[in-house]
Amino acid sequence: MAGQDLVRDVEAFMLERVIPTEAEHHHQLQAAANRWTYTPIMRQLRAEAREKGLWLFPMPVELGGRGLSLTEYAPIAEIMNWCNHGPEIFNCYTGTISNGTAMAAHASDELKERYMKPLLAGDIRSCISITERNVPSSDPTDLKFDIKRDGDEWVLNGVKSWATGGAMDECKFFLVLGATDVSAPRHARHSMVLVPREAAGLSTGRIETVMGYDDAPFGHCDLIFDNVRVPVGNLIGKEGEGFLMMQSTLGVGRIQLGMGAMGASERAMMEMCSWVEKRVINGRPLVDRGVVTDAIARSRIEIDACRAFIVQTATRMQQQGMKAVRGEIAQLKVLAPEVALKVLDRAMQFHGGAGLTYDTPLPEMWAHMRTVRIGEGADEVHRETVAKLELRRQAEWRATHGRA
Ligand SMILES: Cc1cc2nc3c(=O)[nH]c(=O)nc-3n(C[C@H](O)[C@H](O)[C@H](O)COP(=O)(O)OP(=O)(O)OC[C@H]3O[C@@H](n4cnc5c(N)ncnc54)[C@H](O)[C@@H]3O)c2cc1C
Repeated sequence: MAGQDLVRDVEAFMLERVIPTEAEHHHQLQAAANRWTYTPIMRQLRAEAREKGLWLFPMPVELGGRGLSLTEYAPIAEIMNWCNHGPEIFNCYTGTISNGTAMAAHASDELKERYMKPLLAGDIRSCISITERNVPSSDPTDLKFDIKRDGDEWVLNGVKSWATGGAMDECKFFLVLGATDVSAPRHARHSMVLVPREAAGLSTGRIETVMGYDDAPFGHCDLIFDNVRVPVGNLIGKEGEGFLMMQSTLGVGRIQLGMGAMGASERAMMEMCSWVEKRVINGRPLVDRGVVTDAIARSRIEIDACRAFIVQTATRMQQQGMKAVRGEIAQLKVLAPEVALKVLDRAMQFHGGAGLTYDTPLPEMWAHMRTVRIGEGADEVHRETVAKLELRRQAEWRATHGRA
């Protein structure tokens, strides 16, 4: 099936199955005795999507994916994000894609068979565990979490925080980044180790709320490692190359993140436009007010400009590799959530009180989008990268044009 057909099929699935069952998903979560597992409706939708082959779009065919290129995947990444839990339905959660990609390239055959294959088949879930509460993640080279070799085993000690999906029943392993040699240069101190959920000495701690949402069924939890032992073969990649390895898996994730923000923006547009046509205030529908049409127009201009930039970046990344678009990746990481937050905010405003309740998906999407300005590197860190590259470019231009 060509990429275009898949786009149409994903759109139809979102419109016919995922969006109409959002309220059911919400009610099932509210009523659940255990919030940290898929709701029955999510389980059903995942099975249907898998059955239709609407599954794991950017992963290679030999790993059970659809083998889409970045530019083919971009519009699908957008549509899936018309709803916060959309990507999970199609087994395209960013963590699944990045952990699967890292393991395909760097894990032993045994780990691939035991953990990667069921992950990509959607039978289990995983989690990436980097952040430590007492170390700023904006400088992850300073992470303290201790991983020491003892004979044929790695011994892990410390507490990790913000492990998204870590408390889920379906989460069966963690990729954990820790310091294996604190005396090495900063970028060579850390290594990635796979830890199975059932490892002795591993427990989950507090679960965060994010602006009041617990983000069930995924959640974000602490992980406590107390002399956890795993075989040396559980190292992913080489010792000291944890950061290098993580960098190599970022590409698809960044495009997915940017297009995801466009998906949230489009959903906000859908909700906003249908509401302002229907809501009559002082005898006139809201859409008759210039302030409303102005907001709609601004939103359309901002979304289309941002999407064009992301697609252009995806095209260049596909042709020239990740390094060539380092600046653009940093730009889109800042720009895309900014656009989505503005459009979501306008849509919530025109809904009045209803815009702040579960009557629409808008506030939950806004809260999620707000976290994107901090997660995976705060805005300031990415703007710093953009500024550094621009200053270098300007200095080079001055040098080649003989200017002071
Ligand atoms: C919803 C959510 C889910 C997450 N999921 C995961 C996960 O699954 N696994 C995981 O390991 N981690 C996860 N995280 C953690 C996330 O990666 C970190 O919160 C993020 O990298 C920021 O690190 P920090 O919280 O330590 O903030 P810090 O690094 O302490 O930064 C604090 C603030 O300082 C400012 N700042 C930082 N650097 C600069 C600079 N160079 N110049 C100017 N100002 C600066 C920014 O305003 C920044 O927000 C998640 C976080 C959230 C919110």
